[in-house]
Amino acid sequence: MSGLPRSADVVVVGGGAIGTSIAFHLAEAGVAVCLLERDALASGSTSRAAGGVRAQFSDPLNVAIGLRGIEAFARFSERPGGAIDFRQVGYLFLLDRPEDVVIFERSVELQNELGVPSRLVGPEEAARLSPLAGLEGVLAATFCPIDGHASPEAVTQGYAAGARRHGAAIVVGVEALAIDVAAGRVRGVATDHGTVSAEAVVCAAGVWSPALARTAGVELPVEPVLREVYTTEPIPDLRSEIPLTVDFTTGFYFHREGPGLLFGMADRSQAPGFDRPTDPTWLERVSEVAGRRAPMLLDVGVAHTWKGYYEVTPDHNGLVGEARQVERLYYATGFSGHGFMQAPAVGEIIRDLVLGREPFLDVSPLSVERFAMATQRPEHNVI
Ligand SMILES: Cc1cc2nc3c(=O)[nH]c(=O)nc-3n(C[C@H](O)[C@H](O)[C@H](O)COP(=O)(O)OP(=O)(O)OC[C@H]3O[C@@H](n4cnc5c(N)ncnc54)[C@H](O)[C@@H]3O)c2cc1C
Repeated sequence: MSGLPRSADVVVVGGGAIGTSIAFHLAEAGVAVCLLERDALASGSTSRAAGGVRAQFSDPLNVAIGLRGIEAFARFSERPGGAIDFRQVGYLFLLDRPEDVVIFERSVELQNELGVPSRLVGPEEAARLSPLAGLEGVLAATFCPIDGHASPEAVTQGYAAGARRHGAAIVVGVEALAIDVAAGRVRGVATDHGTVSAEAVVCAAGVWSPALARTAGVELPVEPVLREVYTTEPIPDLRSEIPLTVDFTTGFYFHREGPGLLFGMADRSQAPGFDRPTDPTWLERVSEVAGRRAPMLLDVGVAHTWKGYYEVTPDHNGLVGEARQVERLYYATGFSGHGFMQAPAVGEIIRDLVLGREPFLDVSPLSVERFAMATQRPEHNVI
């Protein structure tokens, strides 16, 4: 059967990048952890991610969280261990609207102050950095050489294996049905295989978090929005150092993936909701933009395509904190398309919140209460 323990110090619900990172960091600190995943590890949004990892954000919290993630991915083979194919080829944002150049200039200043080596580059340097990019109309670009991409599945498996080595129970095929609460405090989790009692529960169930949190009377404003990604057939003589190149105006992006390229684009008209139909002509619309921003893609066949959910909050920032209504119920969700890269830092932060330690940065602005208090933190650099 499932190997479900009857009790644990902490139950983490969700076996994506976020939940496994939390389980690893807690288990490493000596906490008895039980992670529940109803399907397979990484089977949610994590396995659908493009793998992008960056510190080029406009919000200082996201910059710090991104930088912490980059540092953790660079040392992942030592801790928790495992190969994650982290390629620090940089992120290159192409900007063709004057107003974006102004905003990105400010973001670069902020990133530099926080220790991120990003810089503004002209179109000629952008062309040298990303020779496959079409640069018509591009006014400027920003580049950060320590950004890049890694394998989301490998990161999730690495964290899960590390957590197991530190004694965590990583239980797959078990669904959390409800969070047990008594006298305003968490008591455990009811599952389809019985109950696990626990002193603390972490809701890291991605786009499915609102349904679970609601069983404890907690509202998390996270909406699922489908996104599509494509990979190409092998491309002969493709250079290995291709930055993750983003056309900021359209949200079109590409990076190297195996012997070909991975590319995608944000459909900003996609309605939120589970299983909503996507635009059947989407690839045509992507091809139109690719014709301008990566013309050689038009000569290459598509090898694979898949869809996955972005977990979107009203201000495109994650929700991280302890529920105000229920003591010792923590949430880490709603990362709005950047949860893979934020997983290392979020794992550390939740560990510290659970243990009553001071996290490496104050995440109180990421609490869900910000929406009621009208203190949202809009992130500008979203793809
Ligand atoms: C097309 C696409 C491209 C993306 N590209 C990037 C990128 O380049 N970089 C980046 O950082 N992010 C990217 N993202 C976003 C990233 O995938 C997510 O932010 C991240 O994977 C969220 O991880 P998670 O662990 O919170 O959620 P998930 O990976 O969805 O994990 C949640 C898990 O909880 C499980 N679960 C749910 N409910 C229950 C329950 N009741 N009981 C037990 N288990 C349950 C689910 O089965 C699931 O496995 C992309 C997303 C998409 C869709």
